[in-house]
Amino acid sequence: MKPTLYIVIPCYNEEAVLPITAPLFLEKIKELVSLDKIADKSRVMFVNDGSKDNTWKIIKDLAKQDEHYIGITQSRNRGHQNAVLAGLMEAKEFCDITISIDCDGQDDINAMNEMVDAYADGCEVVYGVRSKRDTDTFFKRFTAESFYKLLNSMGAEVVYNHADYRLVSSRVLNEFANYKEVNIFLRGMFPLVGFKSTSVYYERNERIAGESHYPLSKMLSLAFDGITSLSIKPIRTITGFGIFVALVSLGLIIYSLVQHFAGNTMSGWTSTMIAVCFLGGIQLISLGVIGEYVGKTYMETKARPRYIISERTYDK
Ligand code: UDP
Ligand code: MG
Repeated sequence: MKPTLYIVIPCYNEEAVLPITAPLFLEKIKELVSLDKIADKSRVMFVNDGSKDNTWKIIKDLAKQDEHYIGITQSRNRGHQNAVLAGLMEAKEFCDITISIDCDGQDDINAMNEMVDAYADGCEVVYGVRSKRDTDTFFKRFTAESFYKLLNSMGAEVVYNHADYRLVSSRVLNEFANYKEVNIFLRGMFPLVGFKSTSVYYERNERIAGESHYPLSKMLSLAFDGITSLSIKPIRTITGFGIFVALVSLGLIIYSLVQHFAGNTMSGWTSTMIAVCFLGGIQLISLGVIGEYVGKTYMETKARPRYIISERTYDK
């Protein structure tokens, strides 16, 4: 039997982009249907992430134009990861496979053919991986690369150069629904679910219109979230470093005592300053990292909803 595919597309303030990219997603659905790879019940599902512009109105108009377009909207902006999650959790009830993709045309829509083929071959998770990043700025490339390296060195299994363009079967999504954490980092969590997976390579394009919502500050915050939600290694590293610093300090204490009893006058000030500053710095960093985990624990214990769907273009 042909699987039903839902393409899940998070949209935040994308009025400049949607009219251009929406028809491309629809064409892809129709192409895959005519190639007999998916069922005609397949849909292009937009998730409006509480946009402040006309995005939701555009989505509603699209839904009137063609039954293959549907949309849901979040009650407010909750960020990219939660928007994707909302779409996936909603879609899994209607379809066999989902493909999440950004709406800005940066990820090559044509890679979907290969993804669907991989599913037909038995893969339940198919990661879209950027083979080249020529169109990204040097800065974006550099920060992204450092991010993946850092994540992997922290022991998180993240597929290199994979963002949130991926095929996931509803079977995997049903299991994924048991991962209840509030602080989510999807690309690091799907590998944890397991099941047969593979990667499909594509070239990343430039944004068709509008601007990236990921300035440096948001990228840093995503990186931090990614690391702290997937790994406790930073805390361990701090403990190790603390032991090291304590040993060095012990050596210093013995040294100063020896000097003291030998009657050598020490100038003292420089070494004191260095020690104070150094230890102060280390302590602040350590407190910050521990605070981050404590904060995350606090957020998790509240167990607030990760998304709230306030409206749909269809009846549920
Ligand atoms: N997005 C979202 N909520 C947000 C920010 C972004 O749903 O709070 C969507 C956005 O509309 C786009 C995708 O997430 O479809 C990726 O965002 P963007 O293209 O700005 O990020 P970049 O590709 O520059 O990393
Ligand atoms: Mg983008």
